[in-house]
Amino acid sequence: MLVVVLALGLWLLGWVLGTPKPLRWGAIGVLWLAAVGVNLALPEGHPLREMTGGDARVWLAVALGFAVVVGYRAMLSRLKSRVAAVNVPTPSAFSEAEVARYARHILLREIGGPGQRRLKDARVLVVGAGGLGAPVLLYLAAAGVGEIGVIDDDTVETSNLQRQIIHADQRVGMDKVESAEIAMRAMNPYVQVKPYKRRLDAETAGLIAEYDLVLDGSDNFDTRYLINQLCVAAGKPLIAAAITQWEGQLSVYDPAREGPCYACVFPVRPAPGTVPTCAEAGVAAPLPGVLGSMMAMEAVKLITGAGAPLRGRLLIYDALYAETRLIGVKRRADCTVCGAVH
Ligand SMILES: [Zn+2]
Repeated sequence: MLVVVLALGLWLLGWVLGTPKPLRWGAIGVLWLAAVGVNLALPEGHPLREMTGGDARVWLAVALGFAVVVGYRAMLSRLKSRVAAVNVPTPSAFSEAEVARYARHILLREIGGPGQRRLKDARVLVVGAGGLGAPVLLYLAAAGVGEIGVIDDDTVETSNLQRQIIHADQRVGMDKVESAEIAMRAMNPYVQVKPYKRRLDAETAGLIAEYDLVLDGSDNFDTRYLINQLCVAAGKPLIAAAITQWEGQLSVYDPAREGPCYACVFPVRPAPGTVPTCAEAGVAAPLPGVLGSMMAMEAVKLITGAGAPLRGRLLIYDALYAETRLIGVKRRADCTVCGAVH
């Protein structure tokens, strides 16, 4: 008791005199040494020894407990500063409002500050602002992809609104790329949207060179095979999905990084009229939402390097029975599109 009272007295005296903390700890250290010394030097039963604990081992245990607490706190603060160093983007990279906006991404170990920075620096081209394009564009904008190009030559029709959730009733008749831009800017003013009101064809092929990654949400085989060719030639990864009625499929085509291209997996282009389009066969409203969200997810993964992308795997989703299948797909040496190039 005497030692504890003396220690508290020393600390209070130091506090009143404004003595720096290390000095105060030093004084208490000297007091501790004195207590240990008294307990070792004086015989058992000596009144002074009784007043200072009676046993030097008590004071060794106190010191040990103190060391454990101090060590634990030091470790905790070191871990905290390390997490902060890794995950908080530098002020020059993000405004305070952006850090607040992307906080849930920054918390993820696989994305963090550096991943969010990569998203901001990324340039992604989305072909088609329809059923698949709608969730793709909204999620890429929400995720903070810095530059998003969208190419489509259609206008919004009433029959689109059953599933193309990026458009709105009052925008029927507007160009789809313009309608999409309005929704994306309303969602996130920090991303740059580049609308291209045209079809992707041989003439507009140069666009691909300006982007790091292409997402194909087009609804016809001509465009799909053309995008694949252009991406293979430019060495850009392609995330492509297709849907009809209740079923959809999705993969990442990236022959520049050991994966197959679209033509490796689908070498024979279906004869015109053999595969019905959504306009002919119908499509369930949330289906493009499921596949389009998965496309956006793959894009976020490819850009940030998180997890394992669907490269070399084809995902098939059967909504009617809530079943998914994954099929391994390989590059073909005799592929007419990527075989000769690589
Ligand atoms: Zn190929």
